[in-house]
Amino acid sequence: ELTQAEMRVWIWEAAAVIDKNSALLCDLDAAIGDGDHGANMTRGFAAVLKKLEGGAVAGDLGAFFKTIGMTLLSTVGGAAGPLYGGFFLELGKQSAGRTSLDGPSLAVLIEAGLADIKRRGKAEPGDKTMVDALVPAVEAMKAAGGDLAAVTRAGAEAARLAATNTAPLQARKGRASYLGERSIGHQDPGANSAALLLESLARICS
Ligand code: ADP
Ligand code: MG
Ligand code: MG
Repeated sequence: ELTQAEMRVWIWEAAAVIDKNSALLCDLDAAIGDGDHGANMTRGFAAVLKKLEGGAVAGDLGAFFKTIGMTLLSTVGGAAGPLYGGFFLELGKQSAGRTSLDGPSLAVLIEAGLADIKRRGKAEPGDKTMVDALVPAVEAMKAAGGDLAAVTRAGAEAARLAATNTAPLQARKGRASYLGERSIGHQDPGANSAALLLESLARICS
């Protein structure tokens, strides 16, 4: 079981990894967008850490993820802010009353978060967005069985491969879609940040 304390470590790890890859995410976004995705995500996760440092969030995983979602919603900005904010808010709704999760329930939780991203952003697989990384990740997590390390590793590997595979796609959602065919040949920044989040999760579960 992944405990609430370990979820905290995930968010810590994610913030560090996002910060370390901020320039890379900005470069990817500069090629097909406005170059701010790394800065947006780094600002958001820095705000989350600050919030969590202020003391343990009282209550269950529901309260914990809600705090993260609200903070990302109000600090990331751009297209990704409401989407990642909504993702974590949904994680909070789904994990209300719980303080730990096993592998299969973690897969279901991420699936619910993805559903919220799709509901808000209306992107489908192939549109060259974060959805492209998350859909195969959720499928892989659900197929990986019950072991937490195996579930999270499968999700991370699928997300990374899928993020790489966004390069040949033409963007149909978000700012990159304005480029039309010129969006082809570059990886999507949001698919990459999604892969980083799942890789962080796998690392702390290994
Ligand atoms: P902005 O484009 O407003 O500057 P960011 O650069 O922070 O915002 O985020 C861009 C990322 O957001 C894209 O790489 C893509 O993955 C994601 N994105 C944009 N629009 C959508 C959408 N409708 N659905 C899902 N993801 C989206
Ligand atoms: Mg941008
Ligand atoms: Mg922007």
